[in-house]
Amino acid sequence: MTPMRYLMPFDARRLPHYFTDLLVIGAGISGLRAALEVPAELEVLVVTKDHLRESNSLYAQGGIAGVLSQEDRFENHIEDTLRAGAGLCDREVVEAVVRDAPDQIAKLIEWGTNFDQEDGQLALTREGGHSHRRIVHALGDATGFEVMRAVIAKAKTVPNITLWDDTFTLDLLTDEGQCLGALVHRPSVGLMLVWAKQTILASGGAGMVYRETTNPPVATGDGMAAAYRAGATLRDMEFMQFHPTVLYVAGSSRYLITEAVRGEGGYLVDCEGKRFMPEVDPRGEKATRDIVSQAIIQTMERTQHPNVYLDLSHLDPQFVLARFPGIARVCKSFGLDITRDRIPVRPGAHYMIGGVKVDGNGRTSLPGLWAAGEVSSSGLHGANRLASNSLLEGLVIGTACARGAVAAISQMPRQMRALPLRYQVSTEPSNGLDLQDLTNSLRSLMVRKMGIVRNRRRLTDARQSVNFWGRLAHGHTFKDRPGWELQNLLTVAWLMVDAANRREESRGVHYRDDFPQRDQRFARHIESPPLPELWS
Ligand SMILES: Cc1cc2nc3c(=O)[nH]c(=O)nc-3n(C[C@H](O)[C@H](O)[C@H](O)COP(=O)(O)OP(=O)(O)OC[C@H]3O[C@@H](n4cnc5c(N)ncnc54)[C@H](O)[C@@H]3O)c2cc1C
Repeated sequence: MTPMRYLMPFDARRLPHYFTDLLVIGAGISGLRAALEVPAELEVLVVTKDHLRESNSLYAQGGIAGVLSQEDRFENHIEDTLRAGAGLCDREVVEAVVRDAPDQIAKLIEWGTNFDQEDGQLALTREGGHSHRRIVHALGDATGFEVMRAVIAKAKTVPNITLWDDTFTLDLLTDEGQCLGALVHRPSVGLMLVWAKQTILASGGAGMVYRETTNPPVATGDGMAAAYRAGATLRDMEFMQFHPTVLYVAGSSRYLITEAVRGEGGYLVDCEGKRFMPEVDPRGEKATRDIVSQAIIQTMERTQHPNVYLDLSHLDPQFVLARFPGIARVCKSFGLDITRDRIPVRPGAHYMIGGVKVDGNGRTSLPGLWAAGEVSSSGLHGANRLASNSLLEGLVIGTACARGAVAAISQMPRQMRALPLRYQVSTEPSNGLDLQDLTNSLRSLMVRKMGIVRNRRRLTDARQSVNFWGRLAHGHTFKDRPGWELQNLLTVAWLMVDAANRREESRGVHYRDDFPQRDQRFARHIESPPLPELWS
């Protein structure tokens, strides 16, 4: 089966058109930060597939990392990031991002973000893997909510930024190896073409490929799949970071219990109340996420219990309630008092480290296309992301993308034109395919076969199922979001399994029990194979 280049057949001569200098796909922190960097004389269109506020950015809890205290140094933050990244970070990118953090945080404050304060200064907390207190946060544990409130409000005041919500990007338009904009769908219009001199992809992650995830439903990897179909290089797709502590109560949504809970002194205990982290790592509960997640899985296997527990009962109750009001509220709704009761937790898919390969300026391998944030792989995180470095990455690389795109636009003719692009494909209508069942099956398979512990046997099983479902789903044409999202999830799952198979070692968040050691031969990135190899 020849993999589809576009998810829908179309004929440009029969569709409505929209022209803009810059198209930004995604309205999370990366997309809006990019849009806000564009000078007033250029038109920017920002599209998002859901409500404006629905993004991973909105749900960020812990905060944003930046060297802001007298006791800290840029070198410390750089070293912590490199250490977590397990040999795969790009040092130049790490240095540039870390050094830009204080200015980016200052910009957010200028735009109205109210970060938490202590004695008139920014309050700084410490999270797993950080050697110093350097995380700014807001509303206690609802940093993303406050930051996005301020950034969205700011974007709405800027006349050259047009915001379209409910606008699903199906694919990137290309001709002669150049990105020319996107094929989008709006309920009020149907399919339409957005032609852009430059395009910035800021469409976020792919946590929804797993049954247990901290991500909201929008995180279906659409941008990664679309960029792949358009010919951009993706890399490091095996590196999905699992968050060690996701609330695990039957019937509850999988709510994240922030890293800062362990940073402020919370203990992880097994079902008998015994701490297990001190035996695993000298940093105890403050070890990096990969180490904590693996220790939790081993503890769950040893005790044959479906979860472990966070215990805050030894901390000052008043402090706990003031510092973690959101977590206290959510747990209370399940009858748990976090100052007394143990909180049941287990790992869940949290952050996609791999993605569209970009340089430190957000430039992809496809001319005309830039990418920032979770959709991309910039080299900041290596094989494991340090907590609170991702909002920061979105801010820094989002800004850089905008500057690069603006410079490119200044070299292009003012006039724009539509091309008579067409794509024809013979597929079946989608009748009869149980999308929900297929989606649930894929998400369960990924937990079982491509979860925290991987090996050749599991990955071979995963590949077989994903190939079968991928061919099945791509033999149909869908008319709305659930079908397109399933097609994208399958593509992303295939790329992840393929890369996990090829990385025959354990590094960062990628753990294989058949290759449990780090192997120097794999001290490199793994790039995704070209499109014709999909489903093979
Ligand atoms: C629960 C939780 C807590 C977190 N806590 C922290 C933290 O404390 N600190 C930290 O640094 N990071 C944290 N992270 C990670 C961080 O929030 C994300 O990595 C970051 O916000 C990603 O930003 P982004 O702009 O790249 O993507 P997002 O914020 O996810 O935005 C993606 C945008 O793209 C749009 N989009 C997606 N697909 C399409 C499509 N097909 N068409 C059109 N639009 C589309 C979405 O609608 C959305 O507007 C957390 C993540 C979660 C889920």
